[in-house]
Amino acid sequence: MSANGATTDVIIIGAGPVGLFAVFQLGLAKLKAHVIDILDRPGGQCAELYPEKPIYDIPGLPVCTGQELTDRLLEQIRPFEPAFHFGEMAAALGKIEEGHWRLTTDTGLIITAPVLVIAAGGGSFVPKRPPIPGIEAYEGKSVFYAVRRIEEFRGRHIVIAGGGDSALDWTVNLAPIAGSLTLLHRRPEFRAAPATVGKMREMEADGLVRFELGQPVGLKGSDGTLEGVAIKRADGSAGELPANTLLPFFGLTMKLGPIAHFGLNLIVILIPVATEKFETGTKGIFAIGDINTYPGKLKLILSGFHEAALMAQAARRHMHPDKPLRFQYTTSSSELQRLLKVA
Ligand SMILES: Cc1cc2nc3c(=O)[nH]c(=O)nc-3n(C[C@H](O)[C@H](O)[C@H](O)COP(=O)(O)OP(=O)(O)OC[C@H]3O[C@@H](n4cnc5c(N)ncnc54)[C@H](O)[C@@H]3O)c2cc1C
Repeated sequence: MSANGATTDVIIIGAGPVGLFAVFQLGLAKLKAHVIDILDRPGGQCAELYPEKPIYDIPGLPVCTGQELTDRLLEQIRPFEPAFHFGEMAAALGKIEEGHWRLTTDTGLIITAPVLVIAAGGGSFVPKRPPIPGIEAYEGKSVFYAVRRIEEFRGRHIVIAGGGDSALDWTVNLAPIAGSLTLLHRRPEFRAAPATVGKMREMEADGLVRFELGQPVGLKGSDGTLEGVAIKRADGSAGELPANTLLPFFGLTMKLGPIAHFGLNLIVILIPVATEKFETGTKGIFAIGDINTYPGKLKLILSGFHEAALMAQAARRHMHPDKPLRFQYTTSSSELQRLLKVA
């Protein structure tokens, strides 16, 4: 893999549960995968929207949380050593010689492969922009909705706004390297893992984090360079926090984004597929999981797992029409067990 490019068998857009399980099925079909996700971690909706909620309808797992399912899938696909590219939005698709696809991300990463699997769920998670007048001028310079590289925040005077997992996680991770860090939240209660809240309170007691009850209402600065965040405190009084960086974490909405322009004859924002292979109308491009549509579709994780199995067989036939796969069980095939590194 070069610094900003790679060639592989299969590109998977989306590291949700279905994209992760696709790595497994493709691995059994002896195909290597690179997985791209705009989020900074795997798990899609399970990890982002309901990490601690129980799921009761995964076959063989009477109950597991969204995060547990993600962790188990990661363990299951480890033998196939997928390459993950987090914090990357699949932005453009082109066709190159020999029927290969070239996928370009918003940071300029280029991956080429004969097969593209779209497992993009309800689309990419897009951060909610707080209603602060003129905030657009600061975005990407002083206001960021995600932390892609921690080092870029070293020494900065940071205000983090929000009270969920992202706000609390980044507070405890950035405080040790920040010039100063203030966590701003409208209520004293948080919607975050209690252990992280506890850690933040410890850091506050040690003077590493300052906590302020209130909301950001304005930005002070010019040409995208921030000098301070105007706040309205919970008691109604106004104030200003000196800062050169604002990280608002006010939740995410889902948008299909650039995939809408991949030329795949969408129905509303879903990709139609045939259920024999889960291939789109374009040869070599498959769509599985919540993103696809067909008669009788159920947006369930287990449906996506089934779709991944048939897709992998078809992807293999697409790449090696002269070398069809023999149908085998993992229980009894020593060949599959070698691939799984258990024999
Ligand atoms: C609260 C809640 C509870 C649920 N409970 C259950 C349940 O009990 N049982 C069940 O079966 N299902 C449940 N579901 C539904 C289940 O979570 C989805 O069916 C499942 O997540 C779909 O998986 P997926 O991999 O297709 O998509 P997702 O989980 O949506 O993952 C798609 C991934 O693709 C990424 N992505 C999208 N576009 C791009 C792009 N252009 N570039 C880079 N990355 C991109 C996204 O960031 C995301 O990480 C629940 C859903 C919710 C919201």
